[in-house]
Amino acid sequence: MSTQEKPWFKNYPEPTARQLNYPDHSLPFFLEQAAREFPNREAIHFMGKRLSYRELLHDVYRMANALDTLGVQKGERVAIMLANSPQAVIAYYAVLILGGVVVQTNPMYKERELEHQLSDSEAETIICLDLVYNQVAKVRPRTSLKRIIVTSIKDYLPFPKNWLYPLKLKKDGLQVNVPYGSDDVYAFSGLMKKALPTPVECRVESMEEIALLQYTGGTTGLAKGAMLTHRNTIVNVVQCGAWMHKGERGKEKVLGIVPFFHVYGMTVVMNYAVYMAATMVLLPRFNVDDTLKTIQSERPTLFPGAPTMYIALINHPDIRKYDLSSIEACMSGSAPLPLVVQEKFEKLTGGRLVEGYGLTETSPVTHGNPIWEKRKHGSIGLPWPDTDARVVDLETGEELEPGGVGVIEVKGPQVMKGYWKREEETAKVIRDGWFNTGDIGTMDDEGYFYIMDRQKDLIIAGGFNIYPREVEEVLYDHPAIQEAAVIGVPDPYRGETVKAFIVPKKGQELTEEELNAYCRDKLANYKVPRLYEFREELPKTTVGKVLRRALLEEEKKKLDAS
Ligand code: AMP
Repeated sequence: MSTQEKPWFKNYPEPTARQLNYPDHSLPFFLEQAAREFPNREAIHFMGKRLSYRELLHDVYRMANALDTLGVQKGERVAIMLANSPQAVIAYYAVLILGGVVVQTNPMYKERELEHQLSDSEAETIICLDLVYNQVAKVRPRTSLKRIIVTSIKDYLPFPKNWLYPLKLKKDGLQVNVPYGSDDVYAFSGLMKKALPTPVECRVESMEEIALLQYTGGTTGLAKGAMLTHRNTIVNVVQCGAWMHKGERGKEKVLGIVPFFHVYGMTVVMNYAVYMAATMVLLPRFNVDDTLKTIQSERPTLFPGAPTMYIALINHPDIRKYDLSSIEACMSGSAPLPLVVQEKFEKLTGGRLVEGYGLTETSPVTHGNPIWEKRKHGSIGLPWPDTDARVVDLETGEELEPGGVGVIEVKGPQVMKGYWKREEETAKVIRDGWFNTGDIGTMDDEGYFYIMDRQKDLIIAGGFNIYPREVEEVLYDHPAIQEAAVIGVPDPYRGETVKAFIVPKKGQELTEEELNAYCRDKLANYKVPRLYEFREELPKTTVGKVLRRALLEEEKKKLDAS
């Protein structure tokens, strides 16, 4: 039975229930449409530099013409290793117009990760930031790379920051000498100067063609490339629009802090903004002060983020001095959103902050709490339009009744084509069109879903199942705790035991005894952490998700060494 045939479906708010029409166009079409209908509308604001949709499209054509001249072919993989910036948007659409496949690459990758991703994807071209050039050059001989195109943040900064930038790099010891002109190493700015903005006909013939290889699952083992088609991505953008359903084309402003090299930023910020002819207010990385200043001066209406970002903002000592009233809607994704954070953030902005859920393999969003209608705290909400979801038994794989706890599976037009060159791995996660998310959760009798944890992160102590998230939620409620992460560590008696990593709020002192008493008051005994470690910060992914895996690895290393 599909979600739409289930008894609780009548509770779904109209925009979620609706069967949507998905345009039969590839991604670049939406950029051309925005430029045609809203040529003077600001497409990008980046540290003082502003680009209209007309200018953005011209720059995309320029880059596409340049790549074409260099010999980039349809279907060829092109890696993009950039922070959020105009170049990241230009490079992305230029590659797609030529029918190329974008391989989003995290600029923070270390050599091992970079080499794996480049050789696995067989990328022949990379467009990267000057700051990572040395890294790319080092791994190049062990990959299929034929050409490297290098850009600098300053390429799109207005005078005078542009002028000061080289001095700043020198001072910070970050100056990189790129051997432009030799060895097929090209300057992005040089290519753009030489190329013409003549329209390039989009070479994508079918929506089923692969637009992206999004690498995922690399915190342990090697990352796999999720093949996302043009249809997958467009569908998710249109679903996003239906979920928002109050925005007007040509009117919105989206804060672009979540990185575009992660599927969340790419779909929910970049592609959604282009689809809506909205302005993208870009920040190259998350920083509390810059974010607050930017919200005040640029007045974005939408702010997709991750819980750690909202947490950092609400804990800023001067938060009340900033005017954050432009913010109307925020989707928090990629990790659980603590309730207190949601409530505080909404009070500060007057806007809505709701939780969404998804994965790289699903382009990414599959669920969202209805933003304006009946939302439920602590829930990831309802499956998105045309998306089916169910909870299946951990062992038998049988679909469970509402209230049952098991693995969440989803089916919908945003589910990836499969993993690149990994048929076996694909077959393990997609069966009869159902994608196994590997997340444990439940659904209530109105069809709202709740995530408990990653199947992999489940702690089994003395035979009891403990969901780290539940313990973390309790810790987050403590007034002196800024961040918390909980993992299972080996224990000779209980098999595993609970360890909590705590980041206290600035100026706050906490003791193990105090936390122990606090947790005992709120949790069943078997869930109470037996070990605590106080830290100044926690390891995080670039979208701000706390990396439990990294903490687990640290613990394992300590254990191996002892
Ligand atoms: P990624 O592929 O990097 O986007 O990571 C996907 C994973 O992030 C999911 O399988 C979940 O474990 C986690 N995730 C995403 N959104 C949420 C959410 N709202 N609550 C809890 N976990 C989430």
